[in-house]
Amino acid sequence: MAQLISELSKNKDIIIGICYIISAGLFIFGLKFLSSPATARRGNFLSALGMFIAVVITLWSKNVIDFKWIVIGVIIGALIGAIASRVITMTQMPEMVALFNGFGGIASLLVGWSAFVMAPQALTPVSNLTFIAVILSVLIGGVTFTGSIIAWGKLNGLVYQKAFLFPGQKFINLILVLGILTSAVLVCIPGVGGKNILFYIVIGGAFVLGVMSVMPIGGADMPVVISLLNSYSGIAACAAGFAINNILLIVSGALVGASGIVLTKIMCKAMNRSLANVLFSGFGSVTTAKGAGETGEISPINAADAYLILEAANSVVFVPGYGMAVAQAQHAVRELGELLEENGCDVKYAIHPVAGRMPGHMNVLLAEANVSYDLLVEPGDVNPTMETVDVCMVIGANDVVNPAARDDETSPIYGMPIIEVDKAKTVFVLKRSMGAGFAGIDNPLFFKPNTRMLFGDAKASVSALVSEFKET
Ligand code: NDP
Repeated sequence: MAQLISELSKNKDIIIGICYIISAGLFIFGLKFLSSPATARRGNFLSALGMFIAVVITLWSKNVIDFKWIVIGVIIGALIGAIASRVITMTQMPEMVALFNGFGGIASLLVGWSAFVMAPQALTPVSNLTFIAVILSVLIGGVTFTGSIIAWGKLNGLVYQKAFLFPGQKFINLILVLGILTSAVLVCIPGVGGKNILFYIVIGGAFVLGVMSVMPIGGADMPVVISLLNSYSGIAACAAGFAINNILLIVSGALVGASGIVLTKIMCKAMNRSLANVLFSGFGSVTTAKGAGETGEISPINAADAYLILEAANSVVFVPGYGMAVAQAQHAVRELGELLEENGCDVKYAIHPVAGRMPGHMNVLLAEANVSYDLLVEPGDVNPTMETVDVCMVIGANDVVNPAARDDETSPIYGMPIIEVDKAKTVFVLKRSMGAGFAGIDNPLFFKPNTRMLFGDAKASVSALVSEFKET
């Protein structure tokens, strides 16, 4: 082993270069495969392999620690990952994604911080550029860390979920940003004293800015925040790569940053809002906002009667939402879908981009239940055909099917594209109560004449329908 390591050490630079190229290639192909549910698992594996190679080679190349510690680190990390994948439920996945973003941010901050500690005074023009990278990694990493912690708290209900606004907030934010930028510029100028204090002001300011940036965002705008923080974590890693002159960190950070920006754009489009509007409008702070026509009679239905309508239907569109994840109803939904198909019915699954609590949430659940990808349709494709659909089954969705977004100009979600289930001949809404969705607003859909409310846990309701099909 010792001889092998000594041989490898002689050609270190070449080996490092080759491994970095392999890792970068694995990241790029991993991302490519992640873009389709059919290949996502392979994409995940390739990216993880790329990261494994990158970490091992980087530690070896820098003589950071010997292989004994690398192996111990890998075992501990793999154990934490394996346990987390077992104990974290699907409904906790969005929170975990938020935490992942935060850990990415704090890791970049720590890399930048260590680069600063190791070379604080060596200020040549080149190292000035390094200082800018250090400051950016610390600043963006700090904002990402505390912003993600707040997002995590908002997703699990520990932090106030609506937009938190107070008088003078924008002015305080402006002062904060100016203070951070001034300190950051002073850190990068050669000859300026008190760099340590200025540097810690940047770190502290970044932490506060992360909190101040995410607190005013709430309700239906949270998907945009999650994807934006994901992008920030990549940009921070990219800056950290420049700070320590690590090409692979630059490449991987740039990939995450760019794909996060693309995702953010998709989420903004799904909400029909600009990024600036999401970041600064304070959506969801209006607690009294209601949907149009939210009063009136509702028409409950039981599983036996719902079965009779489904049995006669020629076309059914399932519209899953967060409640399907809570109920873990995806397997029962797939089973019902198959029974309907056997009955000669055309079945589709309409997925709204912001349904659930993380981008792609519904796709992941339906893939887990082995629902064929061919049956998944986007709102833009299914909406024009909605009037010909016999039954729309809304499985624990609420905000993404709220007609107030289309009809009520006073609604906070006005303008957000929805799946227009209310245009179908019959709508079954499966949920436990008349409670609101994440945006906290009423839903006039429940009072429409063609809507039937099938109250109860989504899994129990769908299973009851499955039993009706099997018994008859
Ligand atoms: P909603 O949050 O609007 O509604 C979910 C509904 O599920 C609730 O009304 C609830 O009603 C019902 N529900 C909960 N548990 C169950 C259960 N066990 N059985 C049956 N029903 C249940 O979900 P949507 O998917 O429609 O919309 C997503 C919302 O979350 C949007 O506002 C989106 O902006 C936001 N968001 C999305 C993120 C993303 O990345 N996709 C991230 C963060 C937020 P009841 O309690 O009566 O059962």
